[in-house]
Amino acid sequence: MTATTIDGKKIAAQIREEIKIQVQKRKNQGKPVPGLATVLVGEDPASQVYVRSKRRACEEAGINSFGHELPADISQDKLEEVIQSLNTNPDVHGILVQLPLPRGLNEEHALATVSLEKDVDGFHPVNIGRLAQKGREPFFIPCTPAGVIYLLKETISSLEGMNAVVLGRSNIVGMPVALLLVRENATVTICHSRTKNLEDLVRTADILVAAIGRPEFVRGDWIKPGAVVIDVGINRVDDPAKEKGYRLTGDVAFDEAYEIAGAITPVPGGVGPMTIAMLLKNNLRAAELRD
Ligand code: NDP
Repeated sequence: MTATTIDGKKIAAQIREEIKIQVQKRKNQGKPVPGLATVLVGEDPASQVYVRSKRRACEEAGINSFGHELPADISQDKLEEVIQSLNTNPDVHGILVQLPLPRGLNEEHALATVSLEKDVDGFHPVNIGRLAQKGREPFFIPCTPAGVIYLLKETISSLEGMNAVVLGRSNIVGMPVALLLVRENATVTICHSRTKNLEDLVRTADILVAAIGRPEFVRGDWIKPGAVVIDVGINRVDDPAKEKGYRLTGDVAFDEAYEIAGAITPVPGGVGPMTIAMLLKNNLRAAELRD
């Protein structure tokens, strides 16, 4: 039996449509229009693409977007001044500092400068700390991890008691995904580059979330039959047959896993579109929190 493909693109489009309706409703009621400020430092091409698509998504949803493009050699103080000014700007409900910041800037300090109530990326240390604590609620949940959980809940009615294996422990994906899975009462194993017997651990997974940035690292015969596989990885691999000379692939060998898993996300079109949908959702929530 082959897997069901989890259509992140379609699910994200539905969420974005719902947000657009909610934003219009606010406008009709005379409530403030949600506003997202993006802070892009330097000229990293990938970051420029991400920020552009986030801003475009805002516009499509009727959310105001305010772009701030700062030079790579900006000082830490100046960067934090910009963030502080956005913290006090009433038209801005959410602030997104695009990562990674250029070398020399202190990412931790910059993220901690973002006001908790405007931390729509969910990376403020207090929000992450609350995520890790039982009985505490973060204002916002980081977007990609929130998208992962959303897709899982669309696929399985309850995650309770399931064995979940998360590959990767980064601050932006692996660790918050693991924390969210614990909150859903799954039993979670976190794997990383020093993990021994990784294949055997993957074989125990009812739910597998792969976020390591290694193309097609997870092979089909590692997957437990019927498992739900969420592939967060986005990797470029050379492919002369493609016009651009490369194709995008995930961390899981899709064709192999498709034969064994119960459900699986494709790359592209799985988790990627959910990240932006969750950002818009967080931004709408930021505006609602201020009502
Ligand atoms: P990082 O490089 O920050 O983290 C990678 C993690 O994978 C680390 O914890 C690392 O372990 C672990 N790892 C690396 N190699 C191996 C290995 N061979 N075996 C086991 N674990 C390994 O990456 P990110 O978390 O930022 O991103 C992961 C992937 O997700 C990337 O492909 C990225 O492009 C993609 N991504 C996709 C998004 C989306 O919207 N779909 C958003 C963000 C990221 P250790 O800690 O020991 O170094």
